[in-house]
Amino acid sequence: MISGDEYRESLRRVKPEIYYMGEKIESVADHPAFIPHVNAAALTYEMAQAPEFEELLTTKSHLTGKKINFFTHIHHSTHDLVRKVKALRALGQQTGSCFARCVGHDALNAVFSVTYDLDKKNSTEYHQRFLNLLKEVQARDLFISGAMTDPKGDRSLSPSEQSDPDQYVHIVEKKRDGIVVRGAKAHITGAANALGHLVMPTTSMQEADADYAVCFYVPVDAPGLIHIFGRQTNDERKCGGCIIDQGNVEYGIVGGESLIIFDNVFIPWENVFMCGEYDSVFELVERFATAHRQNYGGCKVGLSDALIGATYALAEVQGTAKAAHIRDKLIEMTHLAETLYCCSIACSCQGYRLPAGNFMADPLLANVTKLNVTRHIYEIARLAQDIAGGMLATMPSEIDWHDSRIGKYVDKYIKGVADVPAETRMRLLRLIEGMTCGTALVESMHGAGSPQAQKIMIMRRANWERKKRLAQRLAKIGEQPRFVC
Ligand code: SF4
Ligand code: FE
Repeated sequence: MISGDEYRESLRRVKPEIYYMGEKIESVADHPAFIPHVNAAALTYEMAQAPEFEELLTTKSHLTGKKINFFTHIHHSTHDLVRKVKALRALGQQTGSCFARCVGHDALNAVFSVTYDLDKKNSTEYHQRFLNLLKEVQARDLFISGAMTDPKGDRSLSPSEQSDPDQYVHIVEKKRDGIVVRGAKAHITGAANALGHLVMPTTSMQEADADYAVCFYVPVDAPGLIHIFGRQTNDERKCGGCIIDQGNVEYGIVGGESLIIFDNVFIPWENVFMCGEYDSVFELVERFATAHRQNYGGCKVGLSDALIGATYALAEVQGTAKAAHIRDKLIEMTHLAETLYCCSIACSCQGYRLPAGNFMADPLLANVTKLNVTRHIYEIARLAQDIAGGMLATMPSEIDWHDSRIGKYVDKYIKGVADVPAETRMRLLRLIEGMTCGTALVESMHGAGSPQAQKIMIMRRANWERKKRLAQRLAKIGEQPRFVC
């Protein structure tokens, strides 16, 4: 296990090709646009070494028996699945933002099980190769991203039907020592400050799409790999010398997402974990999506805890905390957040063992969890904004507050109750602004897949035929079994 600072040092040692606002970034660990995201990921290392969180965030490797960071662990019980949710909530509470490391963790768990199944089915050697990677990830406590979503081009067409074949990552050449891949992965959380990417296909495939059925690991500085960091709401505040106006200055408002370009990138065979097995892509997509959707009643509830706290503190500063309607809204926010937590805990408790020996959350309940997040987080944000008031959108900048001519007016008229300085209200408003406006909310909608992706999975698992038989038995229609099983 490494420390947060050792993680930062490991980032400084690699030289990925990465751009932001037209600038080629020399050191992600030291650039103001990236520092909050680096800090959030670093906390996954720091909390694992803190006595208060060590039990939650460390465990034993099932491969080596050595102590490892939980983010490199393969879940071997429902207890592990529940623990993940608790760990994510704890981290979300401390960062108030996305800490990004979960995506690669979920990818490790999904690829672990699917490579095992592939080898059983086709006598391939993917699983052993994957175990070698897993051992390295655990030994180096490596932060890797999980890269699934392709740009997709025309959504009505399959990968092989696209007029531009690069809209999905695909194999362009098979060589004696590896494969060459081309394409892109879009809005990949943590890609900018990870050390490598575990790349997976994104949608079910047919035989014609076999070149797109590819899964592999690639270090961030592989030749031909290009990262373009995405813009976020108010991101210019990170580079303009503002502190208070950034809101969550330490950890940012959301995870750092990048577009990853694969411009004919060579992948040696030892890092290839699927190569043309189009009929196993669905399992990989479903297992990864289940693992990641399971998370959202953990991390987002941790963020909600911080948001509810900020809203309550702001109500005190504004003199409204004792009003009955404010308390009622705070109760409603808490109820919504805890409902999400219930969902994540439930899908974890209902998890089950896969043939490879690892455990996966219940897919139906995990998808319900994430679908609820696309709604409840917006409602929690709406209530926070309701309580915060219009100043959330109209407050002057901290630069005006510091100004020698007008600063005294900003201070005088931003102040709430007499014994609390204006700065306190400014800091709380900016924190709530960051957590409830723009990019942060969109992440709750589309992170881990859009609502429609969850609905498709829910439909697949809903088993309406059985529900119909239940009704037919009760209504005395057709055959009357003793029980419907
Ligand atoms: Fe982890 Fe995803 Fe939550 Fe970010 S949004 S903290 S990557 S589960
Ligand atoms: Fe996400």
